[in-house]
Amino acid sequence: MHGFRSNGVAACYDGPNLHVESDLPRRTYSLEINEGRCRACAVCWEICHTKVLGFRPPLNKAVVEDIGACTGCRLCEWLCPDFAIVLRQETAPATEAVS
Ligand code: SF4
Ligand code: SF4
Repeated sequence: MHGFRSNGVAACYDGPNLHVESDLPRRTYSLEINEGRCRACAVCWEICHTKVLGFRPPLNKAVVEDIGACTGCRLCEWLCPDFAIVLRQETAPATEAVS
């Protein structure tokens, strides 16, 4: 097993497994979906790797199912062809400069 600790983050790997722990504040996110813009194309819920997004029949417009699982990757925001999604970071990272 090999590992390191730096700036509040500890990581070790054991064969194919990587374990990461952090003392840093957890970032949280909010997602705003503009229902009027959404055309139910399915790009966002198909691309979201943590299944934050889903859809509601009968129009199958995008909805947020589990915001706690959002990693802030912004793929849904960048790939939505109708610019219907806005992602906001709710907490600042501890390493961010304070003026
Ligand atoms: S990618 Fe955009 S238009 Fe497509 S379902 Fe998601 S929010 Fe709606
Ligand atoms: S930012 Fe990434 S993790 Fe969060 S909802 Fe969009 S695709 Fe999913």
